[in-house]
Amino acid sequence: MSPAPTQPAPGAPPLATPWAAHRPQPGLLSIVIPCHNEEAVIETTHGRLASLAPTLEMSLEVIYIDDGSRDQTLAKLRQIAATDPRVVVLELSRNFGQQAAMSAGLEFARGDAVVIIDADLQDPPEVIPEMIARWRAGVDVAYGRRRTRDGETAFKLITASLFHRLFASLMPYPMPVDTGDFKLCDRAVVDAVRDAPEKRRYLRSLIPWAGFRHEPVWYDRDARTAGETKYSPRKLLALAADAVILSSDKPLRLIWVAAAALALVGMGSLTWLVAQPPAAGQTLPAVLAVAGLLAAVQTAAVALVGEYVLRGYRETQGRPTYVIRDVLGQQGHQATNPATPAGRPQSNVA
Ligand code: UDP
Ligand code: MG
Repeated sequence: MSPAPTQPAPGAPPLATPWAAHRPQPGLLSIVIPCHNEEAVIETTHGRLASLAPTLEMSLEVIYIDDGSRDQTLAKLRQIAATDPRVVVLELSRNFGQQAAMSAGLEFARGDAVVIIDADLQDPPEVIPEMIARWRAGVDVAYGRRRTRDGETAFKLITASLFHRLFASLMPYPMPVDTGDFKLCDRAVVDAVRDAPEKRRYLRSLIPWAGFRHEPVWYDRDARTAGETKYSPRKLLALAADAVILSSDKPLRLIWVAAAALALVGMGSLTWLVAQPPAAGQTLPAVLAVAGLLAAVQTAAVALVGEYVLRGYRETQGRPTYVIRDVLGQQGHQATNPATPAGRPQSNVA
């Protein structure tokens, strides 16, 4: 029996697709927020969400993940959970990184739709109602697409824009650009992502990998309200390497292109040598230059293969993506993954 059709929320666009009829009314919205050393902003963030809640026309649960903070973030989250019954706090046993923290949140989210948003209010929560409207109209992933980005250096803006476009060109499936982690996903998308067995995750490509119907919701990204970015240039570079290697095998194919280019250089040099044989004693610099070029390209190719092997090795170790030390708030709240052991979850054992 097909589910009874539902009415769109007041102000939302009319139902656009047959799938829209499956959206529960009013339904439960989960908001997943990874937090690492966010003591300066976390109370303001919760205040903004709390004042937005009545306008959402959905029941709400807010899942904060404390990703090994060394400041007062956890203490503040405990206070928030003690006063707001909609709040769940997942305390990770150490800093596992933003991707792992978001994965933990997705694992615990019970909502019919799940929003992922940063803790620092760079992504304005006031965009969420528009995402919900798109979802009610049948869109499965309503992702925030940045029209402008306040408070970022010109260097970050240019490198991020170039990286997004290069990254999209390496993907075997459509990949939105100028977008981050701020998005609303339907329950079916969350289930598909959560059920992917890989432990090391890059959600910005894993969510598009799952397919479904994606649509942008344009917004202006604000500057950080308080606190500092958690990404040094070194961490950003490591994230970019993970992003590419976990998501695409095209860089491996580029080794063939490098080999072909080197072969052309070799053949050109040989032709030149035969046409114009150098005088005795004049060949050494040319030989050293070619040997150096060869060694550099070969070493880079081996290192690239090594990066893929390393990530494969880590997957075979099978360690969980994160480990949970404690869960606060919402008595009896359980991870939605049926494979997670009953009782207090210790990790995302899949
Ligand atoms: N974050 C996290 N674990 C980390 C680093 C960051 O949970 O190891 C969280 C952080 O608290 C924030 C979000 O990820 O909610 C994005 O981090 P940040 O704002 O520093 O990144 P940026 O916006 O500067 O790229
Ligand atoms: Mg930020």
